[in-house]
Amino acid sequence: MQFRDLKAQYTALKDEMDKAILEVVASSAYVMGPKIKEMETAFADYVGVKHCVACNSGTDALLLALKAWDVTAGDAVFVPSFTFFASAEVIAMQGATPVFVDVDKDTFNMDVADLEHKIEQTKKAGKLTPRVIIAVDLFGLPADFMAVRKVAEKHGLYVLEDGAQGFGGRIGEQKACTFGDISTTSFFPAKPVGCYGDGGAVFTNNDKWAELMDSYHIHGKGSDRYDNIRIGMNSRMDSIQAAILLVKLKAFKEYELADVNKVAARYTEKLKDVVKTPIVPEGFYSSWAQYTIQVGNKEIRTGLQAALKALDIPTAIYYPIPMHRQTAFNYLNPNENQCPVSDKLADTVLSLPIHPYLSEKEQDMICETVCSFLRK
Ligand SMILES: *Cc1c(COP(=O)(O)O)cnc(C)c1O
Repeated sequence: MQFRDLKAQYTALKDEMDKAILEVVASSAYVMGPKIKEMETAFADYVGVKHCVACNSGTDALLLALKAWDVTAGDAVFVPSFTFFASAEVIAMQGATPVFVDVDKDTFNMDVADLEHKIEQTKKAGKLTPRVIIAVDLFGLPADFMAVRKVAEKHGLYVLEDGAQGFGGRIGEQKACTFGDISTTSFFPAKPVGCYGDGGAVFTNNDKWAELMDSYHIHGKGSDRYDNIRIGMNSRMDSIQAAILLVKLKAFKEYELADVNKVAARYTEKLKDVVKTPIVPEGFYSSWAQYTIQVGNKEIRTGLQAALKALDIPTAIYYPIPMHRQTAFNYLNPNENQCPVSDKLADTVLSLPIHPYLSEKEQDMICETVCSFLRK
C-alpha cells in the first residue's frame, strides 16, 4: 500500500498528462514560457486573489514574502513550533529571529492565546522588533485566521499564510492561500496539489509586493533585463511543472478534493470511538494533506505503527521534533517549557495513508487494524 499513491494518480491522468508534458518539450519554451502565465492565472483565479507568482518551491515562496517585507536581522517572526522545518528556516535565512508559538491540541494550528503571549513577551524583552506572524495551515486545515488577524492588527504585524499543506482548504467560502497579506503554497509531489518535482507559489492582492516578489525570484530583475535592481535569487518554476500543475488543478477541482474529503469522513466515522481523530472546526474545510490521529503515548504509537507495518500499511510521524528542539535552533537557547502541546503531539501523533485514490477496501483494512490494536 502507498502512503500517498502518486502512481495511481498518474495512471488516472496519463493521457492528458503525457500530452501536456510533450507539448512543452516540443515547444522548447522550457523556462518562463507561456505555460507559466497560464498556470499563475489559473491558480490565482482558483483561490481568488489578484496575483500569483510561481516559483521553485514552497520554501522559496516563504522566503520571497519575507524579502518583499524586508524582514531582516533584529526582526522577530512568530511561527508555530509544530510544523515542517521550512516554515521557521526561512526566518533565520533572512537573519531574523524565529519566536516559536505553541499549537492547539485539537486543530494542530497556531494557538492564538500563546501567540499573544509570545508577542507581549518579545515586546517586553525589547531586543527584537515584532514584524510578521507566519500561520501554517497544518495537514490541510486553515489556521484560525479571524483570530490571527485580530492579533496582527492589534500589534501592527503582517500575516504570512504558509499554505504549503493548505491548498484547497476553506473557511466559509474563502479559500486557503488568500488569508495572509501574502500567502504561499508548495507543489512538492506529496502536497494536496503536487507537481513532478519541486515547485511553489506566492499569492497576494497587493500590487507592490507582487512586483517585488516577481523581481526577487528572477535575480532581482528590473524592467531592463540586464540591469538588476536588487539582489535576488533564481527561483523560477519550470514550464514543464506549470503544464503538469494545470492538469492536476483540473482533477483537483473536479473530483480529487471531494474524494479525499470522503476518505477523511469515512476514517473519522470508523475511528472516532477508539482514537482521537482530527477535528475540523465548524465552517472550516480541510484539503487533508495528512490525516493525523493522536494516541495515548509514544509506546502505544510504536506498537500501532508496527502492527500496521506488518500488514504493509505505511504510516508517518509528522512531526517527531518540534522547532524549539531542532538542533539548528540550539543557538536560540530555547526554553524547555515554551511549547508543551507541541512536545506532547511530537510523541502522540500518527499520520495514516490518505489520498483521493485510496480504495474503500484499503480504508477498511487500515481502520480495522487500528481498532483491533487499540481495543486490545
Ligand atoms: C512542504 C512544506 C514547506 C516547504 O515546501 P517545499 O516545496 O518542500 O519547499 C513549507 N511549509 C510547510 C508547512 C510544508 O509542509
